[in-house]
Amino acid sequence: MSGGDGQVLSGKAFLETVLKSVKKAVELANIPQDIYEFLKIPKRIVIVSIPIKHKDGKISNYIGYRVQHSDALGPYKGGIRYYPTVDLDEVTALAMLMTYKCAALSLPFGGAKGGVACNPKTLSLEEIERITRRYTHMISDIIGPYVDIPAPDVYTDARVMAWIMDTYSQLKGRQVPEVVTGKPVYLGGCEGREEATGFGVCITTREACKLLGIPLKGARIAIQGFGNVGSYAALHLSNLGAKIVAVSDSKGAVYSKEGLNIERLISHKKSTGTVLGFPGATQISERELFELNVEVLIPAAIEGVITKEVAEKVRAKVVAEGANGPTTTEGSLVLQEKEVFIVPDILANAGGVTASYFEWIQNLQREHWPRDTVLKMLEEKMVKAFSDVVDTMKKMEVGTRDAVMVLSVSRVALAVQTLGIWP
Ligand code: GLU
Repeated sequence: MSGGDGQVLSGKAFLETVLKSVKKAVELANIPQDIYEFLKIPKRIVIVSIPIKHKDGKISNYIGYRVQHSDALGPYKGGIRYYPTVDLDEVTALAMLMTYKCAALSLPFGGAKGGVACNPKTLSLEEIERITRRYTHMISDIIGPYVDIPAPDVYTDARVMAWIMDTYSQLKGRQVPEVVTGKPVYLGGCEGREEATGFGVCITTREACKLLGIPLKGARIAIQGFGNVGSYAALHLSNLGAKIVAVSDSKGAVYSKEGLNIERLISHKKSTGTVLGFPGATQISERELFELNVEVLIPAAIEGVITKEVAEKVRAKVVAEGANGPTTTEGSLVLQEKEVFIVPDILANAGGVTASYFEWIQNLQREHWPRDTVLKMLEEKMVKAFSDVVDTMKKMEVGTRDAVMVLSVSRVALAVQTLGIWP
């Protein structure tokens, strides 16, 4: 399960950040203002109450959300997160990011997001299963293989997706693997899906370094967050010869000047539950990790961690956003002023949803593709999207974040305009 440190940014501030970037893209691309007003509001919001009976007979109530932002380019698509601070604004912001992420990669999907305000770290597996099944039941009327296809996000994983698939299938009276992606491989999951987001971060980081003339071999990289995204990004980047000098998790950070052995660090985290105490590494604070003298910094946990103050201390030349929304608007401005090359979230972490797309196609056709095929197709799509963003950046003389937003908001706006408003 992926994860990170406590939330820095409120849901409201996060939504404002996303809306600001959409508004800017609308202005830059000369899209009519009424299209912005249309895209500002999700098409459907569902809020559900999830009561759970604990072993001792006590009942707890959790709040769950599914926000379906836009289906102009295809069925809604997006993950479900379990996190204590989940609220409607946060889920709405994330649903909007999914719309633009899918558009940036030219995937035939719209955008949605789900969330349950709970802390899986303090719940038993049985309780997580009950929350998942009850939540799925409550949203079963608005999801479906051609309607809305959920996936994993922060603190949810393949096992949670299997429960979603099973609950939905039981309700329909037949197996419907194509209702959800990110399932275990032996249950219709896609080879390489688990590593896909981290792999995509690695590919876009490689492309950014190539563009800037930074040799990836020996490049120093610091990664905040060592969950699903951070750990696989670390693994793939170190396989390409980069030196992962620091990583963090929710308990703290570790540093090694010579570079951490990522395979060993993954086993260490598996057996001890944290990256702390890794033999040969020094413990540092998360703040120190952000300030390290490195070529690449990868925030791969939660939104809003690179604030203005943090950005002022960043020394990296490339910031690749493995997480969704890790940089605040002010943080982004500071990084831009310092000429830091940002690989924006909806490009950097789009490997996950792209592999989800491959999983969905395989499920619909009852096919199973080998890992090499998946990773090769994924790499091609990521490289193409990266070069589309660079082209837009050059053409419009804007930064990478504006460029990716101009590209994706224009694609969504064109679909909305062409489809028209009915009746
Ligand atoms: N939760 C992931 C994201 O934010 C994956 C979404 C998906 O695969 O649908 O992109």
